Amino acid sequence: MSSVPPADRAAEIRARLDAVSTGPWSTEYNDYGDEWWFGGSSGDGENVLSFGDDDCGVLAGRHRSEAALIANAPTDLAYLLGRVEELEGQRGAVGALHVRERRYTDPDGNGSWTTAARCSAEADIPMAEVEHFDICAHCGELEMSFSVPIADYMDAMWPCATAKALGLGEATDET
Ligand SMILES: [Zn+2]
Repeated sequence: MSSVPPADRAAEIRARLDAVSTGPWSTEYNDYGDEWWFGGSSGDGENVLSFGDDDCGVLAGRHRSEAALIANAPTDLAYLLGRVEELEGQRGAVGALHVRERRYTDPDGNGSWTTAARCSAEADIPMAEVEHFDICAHCGELEMSFSVPIADYMDAMWPCATAKALGLGEATDET
């Protein structure tokens, strides 16, 4: 949409917003609906903008900052919504990688299996003794690929740092 770097564009929008001294704004209509105005619902009570029979789009002269915010609102909002969608998409892609995965182990924590049945069979213990814990599937895969020989899970325990940062990581619930 724009070649302006996101941080610069956001700073421009922030400056426009910060320059507005009135507000919060509210809109008002007269009883006949043929006149409306908006302005600060608190503060000096002066309307920023009014339309009607007597005031055909009068922007009070000293409200240049308000005018700049209003004039840029459509493009600023479109830009910001685009950024939200872009960032949500990135967040979703990262979140799709860092998902909780249940692993099964024996009472001593020796080994990690993807199913309780495999744990029972390969650790040679009754199903009732199989225990479980949760890891991040992605971080676990990375961690294990770097560990020779296979070590305990460390940073891959659920929730991993990425899952926590994304607000995905509830403490492991017992299900
Ligand atoms: Zn992770």
